[in-house]
Amino acid sequence: MASPRQLVVYDFDWSMADQDTDRWVFEVNAPEIRRWIEDNEDKLQFTDMIAQALRDAHARGVTREQLEHALRIMPFHPAMVRGITNLKAAGNTTFFCLSNANAVYIDTILKDKGLHAAFTEIVTNPAKWDPSGLLVLRRRVDPSGPQHTCTVGCSANMCKGEELEAFFARHTPTYDRVVYVGDGSNDFCPALRLRSQDILLCRTFGGLHKRIARDGGLKCEVIYWTGAWEVEEVFKTRLT
Ligand SMILES: [Mg+2]
Ligand SMILES: [Zn+2]
Repeated sequence: MASPRQLVVYDFDWSMADQDTDRWVFEVNAPEIRRWIEDNEDKLQFTDMIAQALRDAHARGVTREQLEHALRIMPFHPAMVRGITNLKAAGNTTFFCLSNANAVYIDTILKDKGLHAAFTEIVTNPAKWDPSGLLVLRRRVDPSGPQHTCTVGCSANMCKGEELEAFFARHTPTYDRVVYVGDGSNDFCPALRLRSQDILLCRTFGGLHKRIARDGGLKCEVIYWTGAWEVEEVFKTRLT
């Protein structure tokens, strides 16, 4: 039988990367803003809050170079780099990054790790540097336009389940197998879309694990993991 047509979907923070970009850049460059995030994340929409934090950091003199440096030194496990590189080289797997971080953070890190070309698409919040060095961040779903219709609990900026369905619609025929690597509660909505032949690689710490335990309802196989070496092992033993 020919190799199955596979899709690997990656959440970014604490799934592909071993840290959370939105918090890390402030831990490195502006711990008082990191504290402000901690104290406000239940009060503000998350993307809007990070956009405000970036404006505050810029006003305090944090530079584009400092933010980019923080991204490049952020923990990223070598086993994750190996796992993606080797599975991509096997030839029958498409990689899709679906993240609530932003385009600049993800592009900067993937290019630094030599992984950018492995990804067919990156769907995340748009961001761009303005000439003064401010990173201007916006929601994926513009607040002034039509909103998503998710009832599972996705934040207003993006429904990852709807984005996954839209990716499937852009990339026919149907994949023989989908593997989703995630950790957060916002990965639960797309996980509900996975089929019996699909695999959810769920990190043991984070909201996804708790949401599965509380709500269940998944049709796919679930493999729990803690360290990136375990993801590499699953790629090697189950997907190649
Ligand atoms: Mg995550
Ligand atoms: Zn959703």
